[in-house]
Amino acid sequence: MRELALLQHIYGNNTLLPECITIPPGDDMGGIQIGDTHLLVSTDQLIEDVHFNAQTPLEFIARKAVARNLSDVAAMAATPVGAVATACLPKRMHQAQAYQLCDEMRRWSERYSCPLFGGDIAIAGSKLHIALTVFAKPGDRGAVRRSGAEPGDIVFVSGQFGGAWTGPSGPVSRDFTFEPRIELARRLAEHPDFQVNSMIDVSDGLARDFKRICEMSGVFGQLDGSLVPVHSSAHVAASGDGLPAFIHALKDGEDYELCFTVSEEAASGVLKEIEGVPITRVGRILETATRLHAGEIQILGVDGEILSINDLGWEHHI
Ligand SMILES: [Mg+2]
Repeated sequence: MRELALLQHIYGNNTLLPECITIPPGDDMGGIQIGDTHLLVSTDQLIEDVHFNAQTPLEFIARKAVARNLSDVAAMAATPVGAVATACLPKRMHQAQAYQLCDEMRRWSERYSCPLFGGDIAIAGSKLHIALTVFAKPGDRGAVRRSGAEPGDIVFVSGQFGGAWTGPSGPVSRDFTFEPRIELARRLAEHPDFQVNSMIDVSDGLARDFKRICEMSGVFGQLDGSLVPVHSSAHVAASGDGLPAFIHALKDGEDYELCFTVSEEAASGVLKEIEGVPITRVGRILETATRLHAGEIQILGVDGEILSINDLGWEHHI
């Protein structure tokens, strides 16, 4: 089974949706208009032995379940308003552990001003599974979509990339302790000197998620591997498998940083740092005379050579 083919099958039915659906499947959050209210909604799940294992402390499972959903809220430059959760608890889980998980889910939700107000619990099987559905309101200039990138735009990222699973630097690796960039995204989207044309949060790898911006915008994008900010843990990963650290930065994923585009004229106004997080220019949307390359991306290596995209091994399949 291929994830990409399944997503394209889902997106193929978007035209059948009613008018009240303002943002159909294909973005970080869906949108629905209810009277005068524009509501954004997204859902995400955390599965034992996929996103964590039986040794991961419950505090960090709960934190990640909440934070990865809120990273999607950040990708739209929106403000969270609340969430509902479902959990399928394994039969081996003790009562005290179940209480702790619920308490930690509530604690982390409140920490990000996104209170839990409903959900469902089941007890079945041998693995823990948590799903969270988060509701948010767009900023004053509206939700920032993946589909707004224009030829000539400059591509920026927040933070650093690669090796998020490597570590640990504490009790768990960085993919459990990241901060969703909600405030940073809001400050970007509300800045008077520039407009953010498109944005996504990087969960599946910078190259793969940047390609999603290009697909939804119908543009041809270029990432410059020599400019991508490489996290120290990408060097740890590189020393383990011999791949260059910048390739880890491009493909590893679970970074939960933001990738966004701004017009070339406005790009000089983009701040170098927001909330203590560096903002780095990493590429551009190319001007092309034809739509031949719409939705595609090109990646430059550290010496300016064009890399083979297959080297990044992105299409997840089972
Ligand atoms: Mg996302």
